[in-house]
Amino acid sequence: MIYNATQRELADKIEPGLSNWKDWKWQLKHSIKSLETFEYLTGIKFDDEEREGLKKTFEKFPLSITPYYLSLINTKNYRNDPVFKQAFGSVEELITLKSELRDPLSEDKDSPVEGITHRYPDRVLMHVSNICAMYCRHCTRKRKVGDVDYVPSKKQLAKGIEYIRNTPQIRDVLLSGGDPFMLPDEKIDWLLSEIHDIPHVEIIRIGTRIPVVLPYRVTDNLVSILKKYQPLWINTHFNHPNEITTSSKEALAKLADAGFPLGNQSVLLADVNDCPRIMKCLLHKLVQNRVRPYYLYQCDLSEGLSHFRTPIGKGIEIMESLIGHTSGFARPIYVIDAPGGGGKIPLMPNYIISWSTNKVVLRNYEGVITTYKEPDSYEPKKCDRDCENCNLELNLNEVDESEAIGIEKLLSDACDTISLIPENNERMQRREDNV
Ligand SMILES: *Cc1c(COP(=O)(O)O)cnc(C)c1O
Repeated sequence: MIYNATQRELADKIEPGLSNWKDWKWQLKHSIKSLETFEYLTGIKFDDEEREGLKKTFEKFPLSITPYYLSLINTKNYRNDPVFKQAFGSVEELITLKSELRDPLSEDKDSPVEGITHRYPDRVLMHVSNICAMYCRHCTRKRKVGDVDYVPSKKQLAKGIEYIRNTPQIRDVLLSGGDPFMLPDEKIDWLLSEIHDIPHVEIIRIGTRIPVVLPYRVTDNLVSILKKYQPLWINTHFNHPNEITTSSKEALAKLADAGFPLGNQSVLLADVNDCPRIMKCLLHKLVQNRVRPYYLYQCDLSEGLSHFRTPIGKGIEIMESLIGHTSGFARPIYVIDAPGGGGKIPLMPNYIISWSTNKVVLRNYEGVITTYKEPDSYEPKKCDRDCENCNLELNLNEVDESEAIGIEKLLSDACDTISLIPENNERMQRREDNV
């Protein structure tokens, strides 16, 4: 069954009378990969100059749109359409600024074995394929998009699995790509069972845009495979309320009914969702569909994304419009992924106005300024990480033996470090020279 007239019309143009619109393989087989097909199916016509620029763009960053996602474009006002902007290229992608990088997050540098990015102490990112149902124009891994060479074999994936097995600190494995749901059912089953079998892996996460761009991929068979590997968390990637449709709602409901906690990661994109009202509308629709907003990303410094970037101030403004103004669980954490591989850094408006040993002055979302009186009776606990002799109760089997690092280490009573000093600090070098 097809839900609307636009989709019926498109289906008939693609394959007269025979359409299997809701068959995800049919959708992929008929993905729009050329300018000509795009023009034919949408009735949109570009002038010669623009066509030439677009062709160059697609040579560098290929085009691929599912018929379903194409059907969400309002062809009458496509220049302002959020789906069009995310799916169809723009000649601006050919502009590369000095500050932009091919691999802004240094994912390739932080890779101990092919396909794994190990950035945080207890979790890894595993790139399980390079294929996506739709090539997002704002992709942070644009450098790899359409790299048909990279569809890792079981043997290659096994190297990553081996690394996880040999690294007991890893308790959380995040499958990403490409889109993990683009793998065949059988390979997903195999991959999840291999990872699930590793005793120290406590949870598996899947990052996917399938519910947004190819919701029919969420089949009963896929869901029944996934159900074998709980606890499994699924994060999707909706950026605009127009992406929440009857079809995507059905896919989300299947996943939520099967018991997977659902999250959403959005990217803040200029002229797509850089508006507090659009963002709030999206977040409300997500929670109505049992999806918990997780992150709102500042757009990365990837090559060809400059036209999508907003100032950080726009993100702070959006967070200001959400905190206090809507349900706490409807708002994401706004983060910037540190260029060079420093990981995600959370950003928010400031709520602490001032501080003394006795009182903290705070402001709320309405601008009310209030004070919190600190306790008189708090007995400072000096923690030397000797949990056995501490009056707080922690089952010693559950103690995380890792040492404090970073700022946590500076705060720790069990550690004498008083400062963190950048490498090659000149002042420190002078000290050494003076010895
Ligand atoms: C985002 C990311 C993770 C997961 O981070 P969370 O904050 O736990 O969601 C893990 N590894 C890498 C390399 C990442 O970029």
